[in-house]
Amino acid sequence: MKEKKKLGLGGQILLGLVLGIVVGAIFWIAMGAEAAGAFTGKYIKPFGDIFVNLLKFIVVPLVLLSIMDGVISMGDIGKVGKIGWKTVAYFLVTTAIACVIGLIVASLFKGSFPLLQLAEDAAYEAKSSNLMDTIVNIFPNNAIAPMANSSMLQIIVIALFFGCGILVAGEKGKALGDLVSSFNEVTQKVMAFILSVAPYGVFALMVWVVAAQGPKILGSLGLVLLAAYIGYAIHVVLVYSMSVKIFAQMSPGTFFKKIFPAAAFAFTSTSSVASLPVTKECCDDMGVHSEISSFVLPLGATINMDGTAIYQCVAAIFLAKCVGIDLTLVQMITIVVTATLASIGTAGTSGAGMIMLAMVLDAVGVPTTYIGIIYGIDRLFDMGRTALNVVGDASCAVCVNTWEKQIDAKAAAKKA
Ligand code: ASP
Repeated sequence: MKEKKKLGLGGQILLGLVLGIVVGAIFWIAMGAEAAGAFTGKYIKPFGDIFVNLLKFIVVPLVLLSIMDGVISMGDIGKVGKIGWKTVAYFLVTTAIACVIGLIVASLFKGSFPLLQLAEDAAYEAKSSNLMDTIVNIFPNNAIAPMANSSMLQIIVIALFFGCGILVAGEKGKALGDLVSSFNEVTQKVMAFILSVAPYGVFALMVWVVAAQGPKILGSLGLVLLAAYIGYAIHVVLVYSMSVKIFAQMSPGTFFKKIFPAAAFAFTSTSSVASLPVTKECCDDMGVHSEISSFVLPLGATINMDGTAIYQCVAAIFLAKCVGIDLTLVQMITIVVTATLASIGTAGTSGAGMIMLAMVLDAVGVPTTYIGIIYGIDRLFDMGRTALNVVGDASCAVCVNTWEKQIDAKAAAKKA
């Protein structure tokens, strides 16, 4: 008998995504937008929420243990520092390019953006975040609270300190190092259980998004959305294809094919942090060494947000136009700098980028209450920007992995 070919996780997630769109559209056509949104929000979205909850639960031990294990397996603090600098430099350069792409695309669209009065639907009260507070808050004043609150940047700091502590403690730290390694292995297995239900979670979330948000993308909001997605696409083609090709000698086609499950997952879950387990699997599949992916990916899921940066630039130009502000070159440069910083400060969770947008708007004098205009469709922006964020993290892991391999090969050649 001919054996049936089993669909891999990526294929299953894609199936969930497509079926979700079809079923969501059926709900929307059959019931009308409002009723479909309410119905699917009440009865279908909760299944997606269960799945996202499970991911959020596993992500704290996953980030803590994988970064610690990554640091420990590097074996010496000097190596941690070297890989750390390369990673952060890659993140910063790609994010700054993302901002420039966002600005150029939005400027091309600017003529078609409307001049709006602050409408009732713009009643969203934005909380603006202060840059210095964001920096101070990276450093925890308590070892337990960050885990309870899932404060990822603080968890990363704790993991780096303890990982380095274990390395420096030498023989006496070995027992704890082994424990971390064993605990990390178990966490990865738990993660695999959770991932096996990903296609169902993706399906449930997609049905709800399409049923509830489908009609809102029409009109001028559709235009900003289009501008953002064009920016995302240009960044993928220009920056990621080129970086994996040039730095990692990997064909972009192979890279995108292998990273697809993570991108699709990020697209539906709208959380880089929740997508971390899938991203790690995809990078493993591309042959990225575990000590690199365990370090680069959690860090990237927390601070590397190219999609968010593009979104913030496009949204800032759109909202400035709505208010009637014509941005000067200096204001544009201000947007690039603040959007780069704001995207770093953005948590890898659903909707976080929109809150940090307030920082960018503040910097150029656009009233933050105007965020309300795009608030209703933020999820649609978020889907694309999160997918891009995750692909960016993976591209960095692939490049850093190659750089380290080249250094190791050179060192081996010298020895021989
Ligand atoms: N949802 C995005 C992420 O998790 C962050 C954002 O809202 O821009 O990467």
